[in-house]
Amino acid sequence: MAGCRHKPELDGNAIENQIIKEADIRRAFPDLQLLKEILTDVNCADSALLGKKIVLADEYHSKDTTEILLIPFQPNGKNYQSSAYSNINGRYILINPEYILDFTRKYSLNADSSFRPVLELMLLHEVGHFLLRKNGYFDKLNGTGIKLGQQRSDSEPEFMTMVKKIELSADSLAIDMVKRKLTSKTQPCLNIAMSVQLIIPGMQFMISGRRMIDRFGESNIQFLHDPSNDHPNLELRVIFMNYFLNPNDGLKQMIDDYIYERTVAPVHRQEFDPKIFNEQEKD
Ligand SMILES: [Zn+2]
Repeated sequence: MAGCRHKPELDGNAIENQIIKEADIRRAFPDLQLLKEILTDVNCADSALLGKKIVLADEYHSKDTTEILLIPFQPNGKNYQSSAYSNINGRYILINPEYILDFTRKYSLNADSSFRPVLELMLLHEVGHFLLRKNGYFDKLNGTGIKLGQQRSDSEPEFMTMVKKIELSADSLAIDMVKRKLTSKTQPCLNIAMSVQLIIPGMQFMISGRRMIDRFGESNIQFLHDPSNDHPNLELRVIFMNYFLNPNDGLKQMIDDYIYERTVAPVHRQEFDPKIFNEQEKD
C-alpha cells in the first residue's frame, strides 16, 4: 500500500462490527441524513473544547485519535442499559435513536420538532464524558424506561455518589458548550445552541407535569427524590440544566433543597434509630 502512508486506514465499518457484536446490539439507522446533520451541529458546538469530531463508521479511522465513532443501535432482544453510552478509551459513542424518540415523545412538548435537539443534547452530554474522560451512560434503562426516581421512604439516604457527580458534570459541560455558542460573537453553531436552549424548559415542564400527575394527592409533591445510586433523578438533571441556562430563584431553591437532602440530611437521619423511630404503621 505504498502511497497511503500518510492517511490512516478507513476501518470504521470493521471496528463498528466488532463493537456491536461484543455488545450484542445491531446497527440501526433510522434517518442517516438527519444524523449527519446533527453531527455537523454537535461537532461545531464542541469543537473548541473537545478538539475531536464525532463521525459515523464510513468516515472513521481508528488510528486517528481526533475521531470518535458514533454507532446508532438497537438492542438485540434484551433491554440494553442505556439510550446513550460513551466509551472513552474505545473512542466510541453508542446511541439508541428509537429509544430517544420514545423519550422525546414522553418528555417534550412536540416530538417531531424536539427529536433533533434532544438527540443533540444527549450527544453533547456524551461529549461531556469525553471532556471528563469518564465513561458513562446518559441514563439507565429498565423494562419500562427511565425511572424518574421519586419513590423513597424517609429512612433511605440519597447520597450524592461519584457516578451522580460525573453525570451532573457531563450535563453541565453540555450546557456550557451551548452557552458559549449563544454568547459567541461570531455565531457559528448558533442553531444547535438555540434549539437545545429552547428544549430544556419544555422538558422540565413535561417531566414536572408527569410527576404532578403521578403523585397527585401526595403531601410532598414538590420534593424531588433521587434514590438511585448511579444516575440522578432525570427531572433534577433537567432542572440543573435549566438553571444553568436560565438562573432564577425558584430553580435555585429546588437545587439547594436537593444538595441539602444529599449532604446534611442523611447525617441527621442517622441520628434517628429506625428501630426506635418507626412509623411504618400507615396503610
Ligand atoms: Zn452520562
